[in-house]
Amino acid sequence: MARKTHLEIIPLGGLGEFGMNLMVYRHAGECIVVDCGMMFPGEEHLGVDVVIPDLSFLDDCGTIHGVVLTHGHEDHIGALPYLLARHDVPVYSTSHTQGLVRSRFAEHGHLKDPRLHLFPADGEPTKLGPFVVETVPVAHSIPCSKMLVLRTPVGTVLHTADFKLDPNPPDGDGTDHQRLARLGGEGVLAIFADSTNADRPGVTPSERDVTLALDEVIAPARGRVVVTCFASNIQRIGQLGRLAQRRGRRLALVGTSLENQVEVAERLGLIHFPPGLRVAPEDAMDLPPQRALIIATGSQGEPLSALARIAVGKHRHVSLDDGDLVLHSARQIPGNEKSIGRMIDHLMRRGASVVTAHDAPIHVSGHPARDEVAQLLELVRPKFMIPIHGEFRQLKANVDIGRDAGLSHDCVLLAETGDIIALSRERVDIVDRAHVGQVFIDAALDEVDQTVIRDRRRSAWDGIVVAVVAVDRDGGEIGDYPQIVTRGFVPDAGGDEGITIEARRIVVESLADATAEERRDEAMLKAKIHTDLKRFLRRRTQRNPLIIPVVVEL
Ligand SMILES: [Zn+2]
Ligand SMILES: [Zn+2]
Repeated sequence: MARKTHLEIIPLGGLGEFGMNLMVYRHAGECIVVDCGMMFPGEEHLGVDVVIPDLSFLDDCGTIHGVVLTHGHEDHIGALPYLLARHDVPVYSTSHTQGLVRSRFAEHGHLKDPRLHLFPADGEPTKLGPFVVETVPVAHSIPCSKMLVLRTPVGTVLHTADFKLDPNPPDGDGTDHQRLARLGGEGVLAIFADSTNADRPGVTPSERDVTLALDEVIAPARGRVVVTCFASNIQRIGQLGRLAQRRGRRLALVGTSLENQVEVAERLGLIHFPPGLRVAPEDAMDLPPQRALIIATGSQGEPLSALARIAVGKHRHVSLDDGDLVLHSARQIPGNEKSIGRMIDHLMRRGASVVTAHDAPIHVSGHPARDEVAQLLELVRPKFMIPIHGEFRQLKANVDIGRDAGLSHDCVLLAETGDIIALSRERVDIVDRAHVGQVFIDAALDEVDQTVIRDRRRSAWDGIVVAVVAVDRDGGEIGDYPQIVTRGFVPDAGGDEGITIEARRIVVESLADATAEERRDEAMLKAKIHTDLKRFLRRRTQRNPLIIPVVVEL
C-alpha cells in the first residue's frame, strides 16, 4: 500500500455526513491531517454535547507532520483538542483560526500548550514532510478562510474546504480567482471539492445582498430588533453594527459564543465597532425599544441559548414585548427545524413578529451552488475530482457537476468517510477501508468541573442515567415521578442507593424551578434536567455518565 506512486487520502469524517470534517493525506507512511472538526449532535444523540470522529486510525497511520486548518468553523476545528491529546503534533492555520483554537483550549482547561503555527503570507509555502502546503484566500461565512494547494509527490491537489465565489463581499475578503486560474495553468491533478450546496442550482448570492435585505427589514421597525445568526459570521455581525448605527440604534451582543467570536475578531482588527455603539447586555433593556439592536445566539433553537431563553421569558437581561421584531438570519441546519419552529412559536406568543430567510433574503449560504462549482472546475481544470463535505446526495450531486464539466466517468470518485482513496498520476480508486466512527462526548464544562475532568483521565464509559419525568397536559407534575434508572453507573462514593435518591431530588428541584412555558416544551425541559443532573453527578461522583432525560405526558 505504501507505494511511492500513490497518494492515499483517508476521510475520517465529513463524506456522507454533515460536519466532522477530517482528512488524512498520506504518502509512503508520511501524513498530514487537513481539518479536525466536530459534529453538532442531533436529537438522536440523546443529550450528548459533542460528536467527534473516531481518531484511532491516527494511532498507527504513520508519521503525522502536522494538522492544517482551513478556517475556524467548529466542523473544521472542534475535535482538535481530542486529537492533540493523543498526538502532540504542530498545527498550522491563519491567525483568526488560531485565535479561535486558543479560546477553545482555554475552555478545555488544556494542560499543555499546543504547538500552534501561522501560515506564512498568502501563497508562501509551508513544508510538512513530503507535502508543500500553500493557501488561497476564499470567501466564506467566517473570516480568513483558505483553500489548500497541496504539492504532493504525485502531483498538485486542490483541497477547497468550504468556500463560495462571491466576487464582491462587503468585507473585501473575496475568492482569489486569478490565483486559481494560474493554478489551473500549472496543472492540477485532483480537486477535493465542497459539496454542501451542490444540489442547489445557480449561484449563491453575495453577502452584500443580505446587508440590503436586513436594512430593508430593520429600517421601518419601531420596537426592539433582535437578530440571531451564527456567532462566527463576523462579516454579518460587522454589517449589523453598521446598520444599527445608520438606523440610530445601539448594539448589544448576547451569548457567550458571540462575545468570544467578536473578541477574537476585534483583537485581529477583523471587526470594528465605533465607540459608543455597543451597550452591555444588561443595559440593553434601558434603551428605548426603537434604539436597540440585539444580536443573540441561538439560531438553531438550542434550548440553552440566549434566544431560546428570551423566547420563554427566562433570559437574565433581555425580554420582548408586543411589536418587537426578531430576525432569523441563518441556515436551519437539517434536523433542527423542529426546535427552531418551537422557538419561533414562543417568540410569537410573546407578541414579537419573526422574519426568517423564507420571508426575506436575510441569509445566504457560505457554500457554492452548482454553477460556482462548475466555474471553479473550469478555472482549475483538474484531472480528477473527489467530492467532500456533504451528505451522500450532495456528494452525488457534485459528481454530476464534475461529469457535466466534461470529466470522464473514471475521473470522478464518489467516496465516503472511511474509504481509503489511492490517487496516482493515472487513476483514482477506493482501495481499502479504514476504521471510522463517531465518538460521543459530554463536554460542556463549567468552572467547578474543570479540575474534576482534568484529574479524572476520563474513562470511556461511565454508564447511563435515565431520568423519567411525567407531566400532565398543562405541564403539571404527576405523582410517583421522577424516576431514576441507571445502567453501568457505579459512583466512587459508596456506590449506595443514596445517589439515586439525591438525583431524584435534583430532578424534582429542576422541575419546580421551570416556568410553565419550559414545562410545556419537551426539548427545553429535557435540556434543563440534563444540565442540572449533569452538574450534580459530576460534582458528587466525579463521573460523567450519559444522561438521558425522558419526558412523558400523562
Ligand atoms: Zn464546513
Ligand atoms: Zn465553514
